[in-house]
Amino acid sequence: MKLHDKVAILTGAASGIGEAVARRYLDEGARCVLVDVKPAHAFAQPLVERYAERVHVVTADITRRDDIARIVTSAVDHFGRIDVLFNNAAIFDMRPLLDESWDVFDHLFAVNVKGMFFLMQAVAQRMVDQNEGGKIINMSSQAGRRGEALVAHYCATKAAVLSYTQSAALALAPHRINVNGIAPGVIDTPMWEHVDALFARYEHRPLGEKKRLVGQAVPLGRMGLPADLTGAALFLASSDADYITAQTLNVDGGNWMS
Ligand code: NAD
Repeated sequence: MKLHDKVAILTGAASGIGEAVARRYLDEGARCVLVDVKPAHAFAQPLVERYAERVHVVTADITRRDDIARIVTSAVDHFGRIDVLFNNAAIFDMRPLLDESWDVFDHLFAVNVKGMFFLMQAVAQRMVDQNEGGKIINMSSQAGRRGEALVAHYCATKAAVLSYTQSAALALAPHRINVNGIAPGVIDTPMWEHVDALFARYEHRPLGEKKRLVGQAVPLGRMGLPADLTGAALFLASSDADYITAQTLNVDGGNWMS
């Protein structure tokens, strides 16, 4: 088992990619702190039944400073240490550039950038204090590698994740803390239902059409599934990635060539 006894914090663990990665980490022996703004009972019960004392659930909003402190304190109180952060929670929104609003900007940057950064900082401080290294994985996106006419703010937030991943990797390398990112392509999760509905509105398409077209356009011929992300998330959390840092790995069926 690649994560035997490791303690991992995962944000956005109630849905999509976060939930799939949480299951994979638990299958690989990790003790997991599952964080989501959604109340725990909606998703945690089957995991608690299956993995019992290796699951600890924290309902928290990563845009709140006191919640970030509580996530770290709660993980340490419960499991005694932190080895891995899967920094995954994010939200999506889009609209034509000339209609972009201050409110949408503030909300997207609060979750996708500020929450992501300050949780990473708080966890990194604990890892530095432990003096035994650690692994941090930040969720970027193919949207962070290029702009999109209708998706300016979200693309910018994901470019920021990529940049913070590089800066943090350099700052934390002396402490043997590896900081890497993952850039998914198009993954069939609840987030994409929302994306599809917004494209339907702004591109005047029937519901479901955008999703079908982006799936067809992937070189490997389909949208990704949450399970398609779990291999990369496990690899980057494990000792197999000890000599890898400051990288953002595309997991996208060939959508982006780099
Ligand atoms: P999802 O919407 O299914 O899950 C996101 C989870 O984050 C939800 O459970 C939500 O409640 C939680 N969350 C939102 N705001 C939060 C907050 N303030 N505090 C705590 N939790 C919060 O999304 P997903 O598709 O599984 O996406 C996971 C990650 O992958 C995100 O960072 C997303 O940007 C990224 N990503 C997704 C895709 C895709 O096609 N689905 C593509 C590229 C990148």
